[in-house]
Amino acid sequence: MKITTHLAQIGNKRDATGAISFPVYHSSTFSHQGLGKSTGYDYSRSQNPTREVLEEAIARLEGGDRGFAFSSGMAAISTIFALFRQGDHFIVTEDCYGGTFRLFHKILNQFGLSASFVDTSKLDEIKKAILPSTKAIFCETPTNPMMRIANIKQITLLAKSKGILTIIDNTFLTPLLQKPIELGADIVVHSGTKYLGGHNDVLAGLVVIKDHSLAERFGVLQNAIGAVLGPQECWLLMRGMKTLALRVAAQEKNAQQIACWLVKHPLVEAVYYPGLESHPGHDLQLEQASGFGSMMSFTVKHQRLVRQIVEKVKIISFAESLGGVESLITFPTTQTHAEMPSEMRERSGVTDCLLRLSVGIEDAQDLIEDLEQAFSE
Ligand SMILES: *Cc1c(COP(=O)(O)O)cnc(C)c1O
Repeated sequence: MKITTHLAQIGNKRDATGAISFPVYHSSTFSHQGLGKSTGYDYSRSQNPTREVLEEAIARLEGGDRGFAFSSGMAAISTIFALFRQGDHFIVTEDCYGGTFRLFHKILNQFGLSASFVDTSKLDEIKKAILPSTKAIFCETPTNPMMRIANIKQITLLAKSKGILTIIDNTFLTPLLQKPIELGADIVVHSGTKYLGGHNDVLAGLVVIKDHSLAERFGVLQNAIGAVLGPQECWLLMRGMKTLALRVAAQEKNAQQIACWLVKHPLVEAVYYPGLESHPGHDLQLEQASGFGSMMSFTVKHQRLVRQIVEKVKIISFAESLGGVESLITFPTTQTHAEMPSEMRERSGVTDCLLRLSVGIEDAQDLIEDLEQAFSE
């Protein structure tokens, strides 16, 4: 069966009543028929039928052994790092999601976990950063917001040769376009808030683990830490996921048109979209993924244009987040990447002239006209 079919069928034929839309089991606890007896459900932090359907779905979509649902992408990422111990070191994508950077910078450092932030699109930089205490490479590809492409297969081969884990944040592409586990990754994480949910109406995080014993250990952490996704949100996320293939196709088609339009605009300095042949990661993206997604960044020629554009757009909303059916524009320097020290931001290309665009499913021409009027004085 193709992934599109799996997506549309999430939760169907699973409930004894014949419900097509899997029900929301709003029960925090489950009764037992006797001492030592269980229906398989005891308490919803440990397991909930609605969450279970979602967790099985994401595990199947990513090709992993087990899936886990969390209350947000950051809850998922935080729980992943609870697998490690004091003294462990990590290699993390330099222009990673701002919240991941903050987690290392403000919280994990207090527990003796450290990270080197490197440009993971350069294998040599990763090699150079490996220490005897390195336990995992945490990589985003494409990166946020610079859209750099890392070679997942090469990274996992390097990691395996050193006995370290590869963790891929697959939020930008989803399993529809990129399957990191097939390329050798051990753990995949998602902010389900973005493309999987797809409607800017739910916060969620998902983790998929390849390897039963690692998944077993991780299941203990999910239950012990307890940052699980509630049944209502599990249902909303599954409902969004059913139409993922349609949305992603429409968004990518729009993105390609907008990127081509931006490239020609006289007030645009550079466009970062892997779907452009001029993008340095274009060929690699074609090789390891089945699409380019619909996230892009661009730099404008004058800093004053940033304020003008975010304040003048009428259809596109000036907001954080991405991946939904509604187009959003973001100014990473003060929004998603504000926590990053300015020299690190500048080094990775997150300048005062950079804007990030999450392209939705609106009509492409309407979006282009909206940008056109926002660019003009
Ligand atoms: C949004 C995002 C996260 C964090 O997810 P939340 O659901 O907001 O907690 C992590 N990684 C990437 C790439 C993201 O875009």
